[in-house]
Amino acid sequence: MRSKYIEFYKSNNHSLINGKSLIPENDPTVLFTTAGMHPLVPYLLGEDHPAGKRLVNCQKCIRTDDIDMVGDSSHLTFFEMLGNWSLGEYFKEEAINMSFEFLTSAKWLGIPVEKLGVTVFAGDEDAPRDEESAEIWKAVGIPENRIRYLPKKDNWWGPAGTTGPCGPDSEMFYDTGKEACGNDCGPGCSCGKWLEIWNDVFMQYNKTPDGKYVPLARKCVDTGMGVDRTITILNGKSSVYDTEIFSEIIKVVESATGCKYGSEAESSSDDEINKSIRIISDHVRAAVFILGDQKAVSPSNLGAGYVLRRLIRRAMRHARKISAGETVLLSPIAETVIAYNKKAYPELEENRSRIIKELETEEKKFLETLQKGEHEFQKLLPNLLKDPRKVMSGRLAFKLYDTYGFPIELSEELASENNMTIDHEEFEQAFKKHQELSRAGGESFKGGLSDNSEIVTKYHTATHLLHKALKKTLGDHVNQKGSNITAERMRFDFSHNAPMTQDEIKKAEDIVNEQIKKELPVTMEIMDLEDAVKYGATALFGEKYESQVKVYTIGPPECFFSKEVCGGPHVERTGTLGKFRIQKEQSSSAGVRRIRAVLDAQ
Ligand code: ATP
Ligand code: MG
Repeated sequence: MRSKYIEFYKSNNHSLINGKSLIPENDPTVLFTTAGMHPLVPYLLGEDHPAGKRLVNCQKCIRTDDIDMVGDSSHLTFFEMLGNWSLGEYFKEEAINMSFEFLTSAKWLGIPVEKLGVTVFAGDEDAPRDEESAEIWKAVGIPENRIRYLPKKDNWWGPAGTTGPCGPDSEMFYDTGKEACGNDCGPGCSCGKWLEIWNDVFMQYNKTPDGKYVPLARKCVDTGMGVDRTITILNGKSSVYDTEIFSEIIKVVESATGCKYGSEAESSSDDEINKSIRIISDHVRAAVFILGDQKAVSPSNLGAGYVLRRLIRRAMRHARKISAGETVLLSPIAETVIAYNKKAYPELEENRSRIIKELETEEKKFLETLQKGEHEFQKLLPNLLKDPRKVMSGRLAFKLYDTYGFPIELSEELASENNMTIDHEEFEQAFKKHQELSRAGGESFKGGLSDNSEIVTKYHTATHLLHKALKKTLGDHVNQKGSNITAERMRFDFSHNAPMTQDEIKKAEDIVNEQIKKELPVTMEIMDLEDAVKYGATALFGEKYESQVKVYTIGPPECFFSKEVCGGPHVERTGTLGKFRIQKEQSSSAGVRRIRAVLDAQ
């Protein structure tokens, strides 16, 4: 299917460009490439592409936003997207005609026209109804009652920022043959009857700073067709998991867990098992592609590495769940993923030993966490069993979670093995209370005594200012490698390959002192580590974080100077810091520099 798509668009004068890494280049705002369009945004916004104005490719994608839907029939964490682009060349007519021909012509996919339906933009106060696209669909043979007009939230793309190119899109759906959910059921309905396979985006407006939508001179087309979903149709199935893409993977999951997968569940417990099998298959497949990517990522507590860790651990949890607490090793599943995909993605074979090794290491780490938690639980058990109500206190469950990273689901499992339940309400309360305590700043640091004296607090804040100032002065490769604070001075280690020049030292100092002069507010919020990273907070590589973290922001929220995940404490305004002075800059170890600095009273 991939080659057919590429061949079809090549025969229509498109140049094939390479798919990119799953980890976006030069885009710190997102962790993964989420669509074929993603790496092409600069060209859609006006830059010339070296390969020309008509492009085609296949792109690996990861969508963590869809994770809650994984296990349904059409949403995967990892999937492939085929795409074709017109950079200021053809527009709606040619784009729709080509989509239609590729889908329906016997020479290409040969999908019967009767099985297709489309949606187009309904129009609103910003832009008119997209009658143009509707007319083109009618002309190729889509009956009027299979063309639905939907609002912006469904049929509109962009702009990428607050202003810039944007426009209506037109989505193509396959009728799975399921019963309509009601009179309003039509293409675009989410009941499961209509499977979205392809989206043609027409960038025809420029959104201006005053909120107007002005027609663009250079109009672009961006399309994205899901490989996995289209294969579902071509295989005559109603779920992506029932296709050739997953059949071997699921067999291995079945034999590893001792559970049977049935595409149509007969009971709700079968349904639970099926869902877990789908989640395990999806997550291991996604993990293999992340681990085997050109830009190697390892499980960690940060950014893409953190997502990877969650995928692996969630797969392990579901595997344990359906195999009655047995440990299920993921590497045989990974081997199958590699075997099926290595022809199209040779990087998987090249990185095979790395993929397996990283998976095994992460498995071991998680099992250790589990063992520690289980051990603690067993120690508590005799006392717990004395409770006539057979209820484990939520505070205890929270303590296991907080101290050992032991997931609440596993406490539940252990409790139920001992015919007990957990007081969920109390768990939630303990969780909330913990958050409030953190918010009040009354919580002590984990891992030792801390000195919260006023001067030490000031140095903490100065550390954040310096970290950002160094990034601004030397570049974004600068990352904090360590810090050490006493009441007399601060030390700051950071990644950088050369000694700093006098000018650079002066510049970094000046930037810090500027922020102090501005008397910027320092504010703290508690949020999920994932969210913190999403909002642009710097977190320290290799650092162990809880799933909920404190984020300190220096400066106003709309245009902050620095945002970091940090335990604190910090001053309330930078104005109290005094004058910042770098005393010494020297090498600390290979590729790491060390700064010693002081705050002079003013
Ligand atoms: P949906 O509404 O079904 O989530 P979408 O509107 O988010 O789809 P687009 O962003 O338009 O999808 O992506 C283009 C194509 O990529 C879709 O038509 C579909 O074929 C495929 N696709 C999108 N998300 C997924 C996913 N999570 N798993 C598999 N394929 C996907
Ligand atoms: Mg979606």
